[in-house]
Amino acid sequence: MTASTQVHRRTHVKADGRKLFLYGWRPHELPLTEELEPGPAPQPHLRWHPLRGEWVGYASHRQERTFKPPAEFCPLCPVQPGGFPGEIPFADFEIAVFENRFPAFHPDAPAPPELPIPTAPAKGQCEVVVYSAAHSGTVAGLPAERRELMVRVWADRYRDLLAMPEVAFVMPFENRGEEIGVTLHHPHGQIYAFPFVPPAVAPLVEAFRKGPVLTELRDRIGGAYDIAGNDRAVAFVPPCARFPSEVWIMPRAFHPGPWTFDDADVRAFAAVLGEVVARLDGLYGKPMPYLCILYAAPRGEEAHFHFHIQIYPFLRTADRLKYLAGCEQGAGMFLVDGLPEQMAARLREVTP
Ligand SMILES: [Zn+2]
Repeated sequence: MTASTQVHRRTHVKADGRKLFLYGWRPHELPLTEELEPGPAPQPHLRWHPLRGEWVGYASHRQERTFKPPAEFCPLCPVQPGGFPGEIPFADFEIAVFENRFPAFHPDAPAPPELPIPTAPAKGQCEVVVYSAAHSGTVAGLPAERRELMVRVWADRYRDLLAMPEVAFVMPFENRGEEIGVTLHHPHGQIYAFPFVPPAVAPLVEAFRKGPVLTELRDRIGGAYDIAGNDRAVAFVPPCARFPSEVWIMPRAFHPGPWTFDDADVRAFAAVLGEVVARLDGLYGKPMPYLCILYAAPRGEEAHFHFHIQIYPFLRTADRLKYLAGCEQGAGMFLVDGLPEQMAARLREVTP
């Protein structure tokens, strides 16, 4: 049986004015419980790096953000009546999205300080996506219908955020694992809505303007690097992987973002995503620390930018982390120990 394709969204405005969206296959009708005290007013700003020609973000209020709280004080857990207040003041939910309390971008970002270098207000939006009311678990362990809901939530957030006049590029992502500095263990991701196309994305935009580089790459390599797939979506280790066990997930047909997916596309993409995470976790028999980045078309690039996910795992062996060191940080050139061909074969052998 497949879940209803109708997604319900309830909007709640929190005590400090931040929006909280409760998404579900079923309507959310639970009563409000305990709200957090309003946080500090967000005051992010941007400073121009004249040597690199790029913006650097500053958000000094972020220093006060929650650092590895014990489970009973988790700000992402549903809040029971009379319980410790958190970000989601309802006793249960399917997927919750709320404006980040410590944003790097904000629609009402104040005027930046005047400095000897160019500065700009950090206009945009930052949101937190909580995948589940359960405090522990992973994308791979969620039921299929929840992963499908997640893809639909991304699509909905893209639509809303790309409609903001100050936003040029929207990037959902997940930082996963204490090894790479994750401070909250509750399964969640984030969405940054940037007022510009960020430096790591600009080369992708340039490449897609020249041609359908992702489908051309697929045509050249065939299925040799595939680790999961179905009729609509496929996952593979790119032959040019920059990280050990790097994986890309893409719809086989062209889509600028998940907002153009039909029901079958959503199901297919969600299924491949779940299998990929399960294979990565199976590789060393423990949750893989990774960055999972969604690359969808920036505003104006919808005709040729092919939506896909890039996952950057940080374990190079069961107990050794990949560090971005001198060559990567200083030169921008990645050095990788294992070959992508071998890694694709190993990931195919994992029982997900
Ligand atoms: Zn929690």
